[in-house]
Amino acid sequence: MKRRQFDSLIIGAGGGGLRAALQLANADASVAVVSKVFPTRSHTVAAQGGMNAALANVLPDNWHWHMFDTVKGSDYLGDQDAIEYMCRAAPRAVYELEHFGVPFSRLDNGSIYQRPFGGQSQNFGGDQAARTCAAADRTGHAILHSLYQQNIRAKTHFFDEYFAVDLLKDEEGHVLGALAFNIHNGEPVVIEAKTTLLATGGAGQLYRTTTNALINTGDGMAMALRAGVPLQDMEFFQFHPTGIAGHGMLITEGARGEGGYLVNADGERLMERYAPKAKDLASRDVVSRAIATEVREGRGCGPNKDYVLLKLDHLGEDVIQKRLPGIRQTCITFLGIDPAEQPIPVFPTAHYTMGGIPTNRFGQVVTPVKDTPEEPVTGLYAAGECACVSVHGANRLGGNSLLDILVFGRAAANHIIEHLNEHRYHKPLDESSVERAMERLNRWQRKPCSTSESVSDLRNELKQVMEEHCSVFRNEEVMRQGVEKVEALVKRLDNVCIGDQSDVFNTARVEALELENLMHVALATMHSAYAREESRGAHSRIDFPERDDKKWMRHSLYSLEHGLDYKPVRTKPMSVESFPPKARVY
Ligand SMILES: Cc1cc2nc3c(=O)[nH]c(=O)nc-3n(C[C@H](O)[C@H](O)[C@H](O)COP(=O)(O)OP(=O)(O)OC[C@H]3O[C@@H](n4cnc5c(N)ncnc54)[C@H](O)[C@@H]3O)c2cc1C
Repeated sequence: MKRRQFDSLIIGAGGGGLRAALQLANADASVAVVSKVFPTRSHTVAAQGGMNAALANVLPDNWHWHMFDTVKGSDYLGDQDAIEYMCRAAPRAVYELEHFGVPFSRLDNGSIYQRPFGGQSQNFGGDQAARTCAAADRTGHAILHSLYQQNIRAKTHFFDEYFAVDLLKDEEGHVLGALAFNIHNGEPVVIEAKTTLLATGGAGQLYRTTTNALINTGDGMAMALRAGVPLQDMEFFQFHPTGIAGHGMLITEGARGEGGYLVNADGERLMERYAPKAKDLASRDVVSRAIATEVREGRGCGPNKDYVLLKLDHLGEDVIQKRLPGIRQTCITFLGIDPAEQPIPVFPTAHYTMGGIPTNRFGQVVTPVKDTPEEPVTGLYAAGECACVSVHGANRLGGNSLLDILVFGRAAANHIIEHLNEHRYHKPLDESSVERAMERLNRWQRKPCSTSESVSDLRNELKQVMEEHCSVFRNEEVMRQGVEKVEALVKRLDNVCIGDQSDVFNTARVEALELENLMHVALATMHSAYAREESRGAHSRIDFPERDDKKWMRHSLYSLEHGLDYKPVRTKPMSVESFPPKARVY
């Protein structure tokens, strides 16, 4: 079998992976990036609204206010040391991008334009702030392309359209690379590396209606689970308030940042009732619940009363064309509606995986061993949406994810550089870990089927179950059924077969591997949600409507082998006073 050796392996070529790769390549490390799609097709490319940093270009601002908003937005589940680190690093992350070539939108005086986004405030909960730096409504596109070009210049080695199957270890359990296969010709390759960084993005494909790309199947999270690393806080899945109703395409929060607002069937500006001060720019969990409540109580729009309307026409065509050209195009193409003239039908849509692979703020994957402090897993790092640092806690603020992937992609790379200085030589792999990974890959060979279960049917069923049983509002009974249904689907995986027809390509093998990954991530999500008996951030239980800090201000950890465990929230920041939990009103 083909074998390649690098100092550092990065799985994932989104913003997180590419930022880390650039740092490593510029430090003269040999770095390989594996991506199942061409790098610039990673989901980061779809980010619209922008990236937060307290630059104070439009309204007064500072990193400490940004930190407060992030802690409050997280419903006090975020780790305050990591949040402080991220908010302080934000301005530099933006200026770095500017120097990499990102064409940020500008103010008339030439400085970077910043728009108001949900959950942002001045002076620790005062007036609305404007903290989100944007390149019109195509910010992720600009960032991803600039980072890719910089990596080409830095001579990062790319394995484009290679699928990473599983992590590889030595006999002591240190992670030393991964098995991948070339999607084009099916050839497997063992990539050995002194460090491995997972930057595989989120798992939005768990849900039927989602803003996420088809590739967001939680592969890295599942690889970590199978390598014995638990997943943290998986019950917290963000529903974006404004997906196009019934379809799920995202209408950026920037649309409300620019002055758009939501109305119900009575033409009432509904957010005035749910968040009197912040209104349409309340935190995402708050706005999503408001829309779901309006629809549930019969004030939805349309023939089935199943959505609300996002009004932008009062902004005028010029503002829409200058600041929101992409979403205007999306609405014209997919709905035949021009938002400069007509309101957009919207409904909450699965959007962002707050939970993920537990890391510290250096990107090291950490596992708590029962009753002992958490220990880094030697050689294994994670950054970006697949990781849980945790800066987003129970609810992420818009504009904080692009920031997260860049800040912690860079931080992880800096730690990897130190690790490489101390570990100069490759260590031998435990060949049985290669065999196990090969077995998993070989399970999905073309062969005649004795059963009729198909990958796509099972994936659709899983997405339906997650949508019905683990959505915006949850309760004991609905989630109990959800756990049972997901477990039954996992069992049915054994009967799935991809067939031996001539039209079975490697893409069918990829889809089968992705389905297995989704199943593992679904187990973690359903079990963690079922167990948490409180409402916090995106996890909203009708039967436990209050937040319960005494019992539940702790992170969940789900592992395939041991089920659920918990660990404390790191409430102590690095240099400032901590923000104690308070009632969260907007
Ligand atoms: C429509 C949309 C709009 C958004 N807008 C914003 C915004 O305005 N502001 C903001 O802050 N956040 C936004 N977000 C969130 C943010 O864009 C993402 O959280 C972030 O870009 C994720 O980056 P990442 O590097 O972690 O992963 P991704 O960009 O998702 O990249 C994942 C990479 O992993 C690779 N990969 C995955 N599995 C495998 C495997 N098995 N083998 C090989 N490669 C693999 C993929 O090929 C890809 O290269 C948005 C998200 C969506 C969906």
